[in-house]
Amino acid sequence: TERTLILVKPDGVARGLVGEVVSRLEAKGLRLVAAELRTLPRETAEQHYAEHAEKPFFGSLVDFITGGPLLALVAEGPRAIEAFRALAGATDPVKAAPGTIRGDFALEVQNNIVHGSDSPESAQREIGLFFPAL
Ligand code: ATP
Repeated sequence: TERTLILVKPDGVARGLVGEVVSRLEAKGLRLVAAELRTLPRETAEQHYAEHAEKPFFGSLVDFITGGPLLALVAEGPRAIEAFRALAGATDPVKAAPGTIRGDFALEVQNNIVHGSDSPESAQREIGLFFPAL
């Protein structure tokens, strides 16, 4: 079994898509092990997105992710990381397949509803950042 960090980003929370996202991941068979609604301090957002620090969209991305409450989740199951990324769809929601969360609910690359860890290393780092007690 494997754990992954999932975020329902502030756009997803504001649009009332928390139930939709949780329902899809539970239906898939992933099991929730932690969940918390919170508004991120800039410092946590900058750490979470450290790999994008030099990108032109970094400032905007940090404004977006700190701009309202998000739902942080840890889910577990066999190949949970890959399983959730398949549910989420491609980063660019216009390219994401219909039937995926981004493909069904989003139109802009920044405001793409969800985040899911992309590797076991990033899952470990991100779970430590959001839920240090786990
Ligand atoms: P996440 O890490 O949130 O699951 P991802 O791994 O699919 O997304 P990354 O390339 O790591 O995508 O980008 C992280 C986040 O930064 C994206 O989910 C999106 O919100 C934002 N982002 C990525 N590219 C752009 C861009 N060109 N312009 C604006 N925002 C972007």
